[in-house]
Amino acid sequence: MDGKLVSQAVKDRLKQQTDARRAACKKLPHLAAVLIGNNGASETYVASKVKSCSEVGFTSTLIRLAEDISEVQLLNKLTELNEDFDVDGILVQLPLPKHISEQKIIETIYPSKDVDGFHPESVGRMVQGLPTYYPATPYGILLLLEHYKIETKGKHVVVIGRSNIVGRPISIMLSKNEYPGNATVTVCHSHTSHLKEICLQADIIIAALGKPEFLKADMVKEGAVVVDVGITRVSDPSKKSGFSIKGDVDFADVSTKCSYITPVPGGVGPMTIAALMMNTFKACAAKDSV
Ligand code: NAD
Repeated sequence: MDGKLVSQAVKDRLKQQTDARRAACKKLPHLAAVLIGNNGASETYVASKVKSCSEVGFTSTLIRLAEDISEVQLLNKLTELNEDFDVDGILVQLPLPKHISEQKIIETIYPSKDVDGFHPESVGRMVQGLPTYYPATPYGILLLLEHYKIETKGKHVVVIGRSNIVGRPISIMLSKNEYPGNATVTVCHSHTSHLKEICLQADIIIAALGKPEFLKADMVKEGAVVVDVGITRVSDPSKKSGFSIKGDVDFADVSTKCSYITPVPGGVGPMTIAALMMNTFKACAAKDSV
């Protein structure tokens, strides 16, 4: 499954819809991205999000803050963005420096601008099947499954990882009573016993544990669908950057056995950004009636 291709298709559609808004003199979507400190991976993610905004015709504001910014200063900045009518979506790139409470930051962003879908209200609404913003990575996975018309009804999905941003939300989303969903979902984590046996029963495996090349072919049933969420920087002296990016799936090994698989890079990563763009567009369009 080619995340680059599908994310481009999603962005092309969004660009058309944004052009239509411009032609109708409607407000254009505006994403505010907050980047704290100088984490190399975070810099890369935020740069691609800002670039995608410009590709689809959105306005974006990048707010760079020093690593030693106090929690109060950051909360004040978020309050300012909450109150700014022009800003439709607010994204605070994680992880945060240790002296800042991630939970406090997540809960400060207005749910109406929570395009990352991490606020407890957004999560609660998602659990109850109410309109909300889905967290970007699981939403991107759904868009990918949908694009490739992967059947999920009655299938056994094994999710490896139970984080609030990937494992837990995707498990809830795939068990909902509509496509892509209606699956029987097993959530595995660091305390799961017999993980290999459970994976071997899976029609679809979603690997989101952050352990490079963890999933091997002997853990995968013939013909299974494998979605690799993992992104880990692994030291690689042959690369100019000094590192290469590895997923949670041993691609060369597993791809011989499964029917569909996502590569890393070029799989779930670009879909996460496409989903974030979808959420930002939605947040803007929600203001049409205000
Ligand atoms: P996390 O560290 O918050 O959670 C990891 C989960 O994996 C935990 O629930 C843990 O219980 C489970 N786990 C760890 N070791 C395990 C093992 N041996 N067996 C079974 N379960 C195990 O991670 P996260 O934030 O969910 O991210 C997971 C991976 O996905 C990371 O590599 C991250 O960089 C990547 N990620 C990618 C995207 C994207 O856009 N592609 C987005 C978010 C996260």
